[in-house]
Amino acid sequence: MDSRDRTRVVVCLDGMDPAYLAATDTPGWDAVAAEGAAGECDCVVPSLTNVNNVSIVTGSFPADHGVTGNTYYDPDRGDLVYMEDPAYVRCETRLQAFAAAGETVAALVAKDKLRRMVGRGCAVAASAEDPPAALVEAVGPPPDIYSGEASGWLLDAALHVLDDLCPDVLYVSTTDVVPHKHAPTEDRARAWVERLDEGLAALHDRGVDLVATADHGMNRKSVRVDLDAVAERAGVDATVVRLIRDRHTYHHRNLGGAAYVYSHDGSGGDWLTDVPGVEAVLPRDDAAQRFRLAPDRIGDYLVLGDPDTVFGPVEGGVRAPVDLRTHGSHHERTVPYVTTRDVELRYNVEAFAALDNP
Ligand SMILES: [Zn+2]
Repeated sequence: MDSRDRTRVVVCLDGMDPAYLAATDTPGWDAVAAEGAAGECDCVVPSLTNVNNVSIVTGSFPADHGVTGNTYYDPDRGDLVYMEDPAYVRCETRLQAFAAAGETVAALVAKDKLRRMVGRGCAVAASAEDPPAALVEAVGPPPDIYSGEASGWLLDAALHVLDDLCPDVLYVSTTDVVPHKHAPTEDRARAWVERLDEGLAALHDRGVDLVATADHGMNRKSVRVDLDAVAERAGVDATVVRLIRDRHTYHHRNLGGAAYVYSHDGSGGDWLTDVPGVEAVLPRDDAAQRFRLAPDRIGDYLVLGDPDTVFGPVEGGVRAPVDLRTHGSHHERTVPYVTTRDVELRYNVEAFAALDNP
């Protein structure tokens, strides 16, 4: 079969840290690798779901597409806003470009806010959170998006869309609730990996051209540092934007290892450098250059935590113990990939490009 007759499928396995793949047998993944290639690549930092989903579907970095976190400090409003409106995406997506070129494009994602950000131009754009009736009728009602089963449902839905619509291009993005809650060797984590692997195997059996990768990794965190409290103690007027902050607090409790800091009194960033748990304080231009971020949307400093630390409120202090699994910093930037093509990915951003050549 000519490769142009094959549907190009990109699957973003949300939160699939390489440690989860290593802990479970994945015959489906291995079969894809045997046809093409597999390895590890980098995701975009900050290592967050929407930043990376938008990077994958646009094939670009935040410097171009403009989505730099789940939350954005709007200097005009002087307030924090959720970066969930498609208007924040500054460039066309690859999906839009494929559709404009006459191809049939479909996207299936977990949350409806992500559907709005990546679904433009798609003949079918559905979420597990609020799926269209026809999809529910064909695949069954989706499990709660805060359950591990929602990811499996999305792959079932992908198979249905593949058979029903015969799209030229299909994008699928799952949810990371399981790796947030369970370490790689726990039964629930293994069951989640097995279910996703079965879904990949079924897609592969349909003869599609495939890239599967992840939006970010996942690490256990043990320390919480309150950067607002640090600022207050230092007598500094600054706004701290915790980048993981979104409406869906169930699994990450809005705690992650990356923040942008807006300095309002010209006091600079020295007050941040000796804070235990803070690993790096990058001035705007350095951060924008190193991680290819949009300089007008990252404040004056990018602050990154060490492997054990997340940023968040601490009652009556600056530092407290915490026990959760989460992401956001550069320590969760390594992600796995597998593809039917014999190509090497340096970034998950290259997923669609990997399928470009016939
Ligand atoms: Zn994610």
